[in-house]
Amino acid sequence: MADAQPVYLDHLATTPVDPAVLAAMADALREHFGNASSGTHAYGWSARALAENARAEVAALAGCEPREVVFTSGATEANNLALRGTADLWPQPGRIVTTTLEHSSVDRTLDVLEARGWRVVRVPCGPDGLVPAAAVADALTDDTRLVAINAAQNEIGTLQPWARIAQACRERGIVCHVDAAQAAGKVPLDFRADGIGLLALSAHKIYGPKGAGALVVRAREPRVELRPQITGGGQERGLRAGTLNVPAVVGMGVACRLALARREQDAARLRRLGARLYARLADRIGDLVLNGDARARLPGCLNLLIPGVPSGALMRAVPTLAFSAGAACTSGEGKPSAALLALGLDPDRAACCIRLSLGRGTTEAEAAAAADRLADAITAIRKEKGTA
Ligand code: PMP
Repeated sequence: MADAQPVYLDHLATTPVDPAVLAAMADALREHFGNASSGTHAYGWSARALAENARAEVAALAGCEPREVVFTSGATEANNLALRGTADLWPQPGRIVTTTLEHSSVDRTLDVLEARGWRVVRVPCGPDGLVPAAAVADALTDDTRLVAINAAQNEIGTLQPWARIAQACRERGIVCHVDAAQAAGKVPLDFRADGIGLLALSAHKIYGPKGAGALVVRAREPRVELRPQITGGGQERGLRAGTLNVPAVVGMGVACRLALARREQDAARLRRLGARLYARLADRIGDLVLNGDARARLPGCLNLLIPGVPSGALMRAVPTLAFSAGAACTSGEGKPSAALLALGLDPDRAACCIRLSLGRGTTEAEAAAAADRLADAITAIRKEKGTA
């Protein structure tokens, strides 16, 4: 018989699909199979109506107009469209300002642009995992075409000052792209009020389906232009060709509606739960370190340094907990986390960090049990190594 499933503490990697999302997607798959671009019959109209309803729900969460939402296959594609789509507009390569804490879908894409002659300036974060808005503002020059920053860092969980950075960009007429894959639906974020130019979203971080996301593209004051990266039919205002994945889009819409309705209560509960888990673990592990600013962080996300205890050994010692050492997207690479190195940790210490990310389904009992099991395992590993 299969063992009981481990307690899931990796909600920054992905989240389980909410039952309401699943029900709406199943209904869309079963009943509304039409092509949303078929304008000549009822099958197309009903699929289109579902997609437009979802677009409005995404817009409500993001604080933008529905027509500004361009559906994509996720935040990776949204980031690629934002960066490549901007770069391709310019006849000559210019400068792009970003940070040392970006997700691989931004960082690797900027590597590609760099190879094409673009100058990419990566503004460092402090040891607290925060990138000062003033440092980004200071890096802006007349030939800066784009600024790319994440709203919430996917390994450390720190929240960057995106609204102040977007403001500095607007003052200089520079487009600010915000990767909000981890932040949207978890902390207040408002595309229009925050003055953002481009915004990447992902459904599977907020209990929606994988393979669904969006790029919000500012339509006015000022309008942001992009060169499409996937050409074909004229779907998504010509910015992203391909038959719309209506069930995925519907699932994303429901996920956004739920996230908006529950954001404050979820955030308050996760903050409390995370603080309790941390306190319970720190009670037994005196030299435990929380990486990144304690307050400006995603609710329920803890990146912890446990000196002398490699994350791999700890994961093997506690198979009843599902957690990670950092980004799922790069965990196969076996290299020290670039984000932790950017915080100033040396590779040895970076190898001794774990990420615990709690979610909607995490109970008080699970959080307490996680702290106890981790503390037991850390103590045992240290005893074995003679460092206890
Ligand atoms: N940006 C950030 C900050 C992320 O955490 C992720 C997902 N790990 C992505 C982008 C990519 O999102 P997706 O999985 O939807 O492609």
